[in-house]
Amino acid sequence: MRFVSTRGATDPVTLSTTLVEGLAGDGGLFVPERFPSLHLSDFGTVEALDSIATILLHPFFTDDPLHDQVAAICAETFTFPAPLLELAEGTSVLQLFHGPTAAFKDFGARFLAAALSRVPGDAAGPRTVLVATSGDTGGAVAAAFHGRPGVRVVILYPRGRVSPLQERQLGGWSDNVRTLAVRGDFDDCQRLVRSAFADVELAREARLTSANSINLGRLLPQMAYHARAALEYLRRTGVAPGFIVPTGNLGNAVACLWAQRMGLPIREVVLATNANETIPDFFATGRWRPRPAVQTLATAMDVGDPSNFERLTHLFGGWAGVRRRVRAIRVDDEAIRAAIDRGAESWGVVWDPHTATAAAAREQVEEADWVLVATAHPAKFPETVEPIIGREVDAPPALVEIARRTSEPEEIEPELEALSRVLRAP
Ligand SMILES: *Cc1c(COP(=O)(O)O)cnc(C)c1O
Repeated sequence: MRFVSTRGATDPVTLSTTLVEGLAGDGGLFVPERFPSLHLSDFGTVEALDSIATILLHPFFTDDPLHDQVAAICAETFTFPAPLLELAEGTSVLQLFHGPTAAFKDFGARFLAAALSRVPGDAAGPRTVLVATSGDTGGAVAAAFHGRPGVRVVILYPRGRVSPLQERQLGGWSDNVRTLAVRGDFDDCQRLVRSAFADVELAREARLTSANSINLGRLLPQMAYHARAALEYLRRTGVAPGFIVPTGNLGNAVACLWAQRMGLPIREVVLATNANETIPDFFATGRWRPRPAVQTLATAMDVGDPSNFERLTHLFGGWAGVRRRVRAIRVDDEAIRAAIDRGAESWGVVWDPHTATAAAAREQVEEADWVLVATAHPAKFPETVEPIIGREVDAPPALVEIARRTSEPEEIEPELEALSRVLRAP
């Protein structure tokens, strides 16, 4: 299988190459040249998440140096469950927050780490994964790559602008993970990463590679839990469910739509967004107008220019196709609060602010048979959730362990010179 750019101006490459390069040479995003079709019978009675992932992802590794390691990569990635729980008749919840950092990004980060560390290298020394983070991504990437030979990780975050829990999750790793608190904001961090990649000599010397969500290694494994949930729902009820996906950069939603394209029983996909207007405005007007992000309670979805939109339009052959096949529902902060309140009151379920967008969107759709995609554990956002429900949220063991950590952040100035000193150090 070969992968091409959404902008169509590069030669097709293998999956391993996309993992190392991250972004296509013409500035587009890598997508499969075509999608393999699977049949329900290909999955037989298989239930385990890692086994379903192996069946689903195997075709993408055809002709790749990693083709005989797919099962091993999936076994190493999917070590925690993604349970599908029935909430009420016609509504189930897919919990994606049982990993080391209690959010769905653990799946993508772990798959990328497992795959990238197996890509045949040369004698040029370790690769360096460089990531800028506004909170969650960096923690998931650090947890996934920590202790792996052949790869080191450098994480940049804006000093004083992440939550105390996130800061503990980002720091205190040692070994092959180095975290830098940048004296600036998130845009400074992103600018630093971009200028490091743009410095050809530095990028070559440090063997830079990226682990942000445009990397296919983070997107492909996200198909697997949607696939497993759809199969389980179908086996249980005889019906193909719709999915409501909390959406920011469109990565998780595109993965769900890719699983649908491959033949999984997914009736439709609804995008639940926060107050950021770019996506809902596109569905309302037919025009794509990126704008600066606004801050909401669902911070990980505060995106004004969702980069995976290119993959969405590529999948449906243009803007009109997207609008025919997908819907979006916008949920503002007031509705997020109301959904958290009602969830606790009526069902005894505590939603995190991101999953609450899906719960609020559920109330606006008519049909039955929905899977709400729960992207984070509510204990990651106690400042928001606890005042609404009027009690504490119990943290899962992984978060309790993180909360106990102490670390002194290492600070740097928001300048390429300071970063390149770190990157050039052995
Ligand atoms: C990243 C994130 C999202 C948004 O996912 P996208 O793939 O960017 O659309 C939703 N919820 C949580 C908790 C996240 O961390």
